[in-house]
Amino acid sequence: MNNFTVEAIELTRLYGGREAVSNVSFTLSKGEVLGFLGPNGAGKSTTMKMLTGNLAPSNGSVKICGIDMMENPKEAKALIGYLPEMRPLYKELTVDEYLTVAARLHRVSSGNIKKAVEIAKERCGLGHMSKRLIENLSNGYQQRVGIAQAIIHSPMVVILDEPTVGLDPIQIRDIRALIRELGSDYSVIISTHILPEVEMVCDRVQIIDKGKLVFNGAIDVLKKQRVGNKLLIGMHNPPSVDAMLKIAGITEAEALAGGLMRVRFAEDATPAEAIVQAAVKNNWGLHQIAPDQTSLEDVFMQLTYQEQTEF
Ligand code: ADP
Repeated sequence: MNNFTVEAIELTRLYGGREAVSNVSFTLSKGEVLGFLGPNGAGKSTTMKMLTGNLAPSNGSVKICGIDMMENPKEAKALIGYLPEMRPLYKELTVDEYLTVAARLHRVSSGNIKKAVEIAKERCGLGHMSKRLIENLSNGYQQRVGIAQAIIHSPMVVILDEPTVGLDPIQIRDIRALIRELGSDYSVIISTHILPEVEMVCDRVQIIDKGKLVFNGAIDVLKKQRVGNKLLIGMHNPPSVDAMLKIAGITEAEALAGGLMRVRFAEDATPAEAIVQAAVKNNWGLHQIAPDQTSLEDVFMQLTYQEQTEF
């Protein structure tokens, strides 16, 4: 018996003969926040629907805390809280009324409903909104209600599909903080197409592109890919690319506008000092030299581009 709260095993989903999700496998442990990242149409929602038992896989299986979703759907689903991209809210109800309905739907025993509603409200910062009609709440508070219904039955796994879409920056910040907090009690999966969101909220990230996983690792590993072995050098009298390439350890040099040059160097090389010495000796007019970070967007493009070239 392992400790995984979620096991996705070789999940594939066909739509009209086309693979929307192709052979996706991963696991999730208790207390982890996993970011499921990918461009629109990559297969995120389709995967979420299979994980939550709302869509049957064409191939493969899902286990929630060791329980097979196909063999024992009721038991497996009871361990999941799910907020789909389209919030399942009854806007004509008050927060208390709606969460009471949600608790019943999630089969919370009648003696425990009141307490469950109070805990979920407190967790999601909704205590002062109990008697408000949901339709009169701001977008951000409606999203909190959506998250509250997903945790009302204290599930093992909380799955949130694009939880910050359509919110303003302050609401986004608050919802992200809430998701981070949920990570201490539950296993959480969020799907998103927003890179910084993953960086801020998740411990681990999976990047999906055209139905296939192209990256699965700790967020730190993704961040490290940004640093790379690159320097950005600013000079008033920049040398030719060939002259720069003569410096030991430099493997590539690219002249940019405004006297800037980007150089790449070998894994074990530290060419900064030699560059400064050459700049002084040859009057290159050096005015800046700094590590050149790849943006997360570029890392993402590289990962998804590599996948494209395989087709
Ligand atoms: P994402 O959530 O990453 O935006 P989806 O999982 O919604 O992506 O979609 C993955 C692919 O499957 C897309 O090409 C989409 O057009 C297709 N797709 C999704 N749902 C259906 C459906 N019900 N019928 C046919 N194709 C679908």
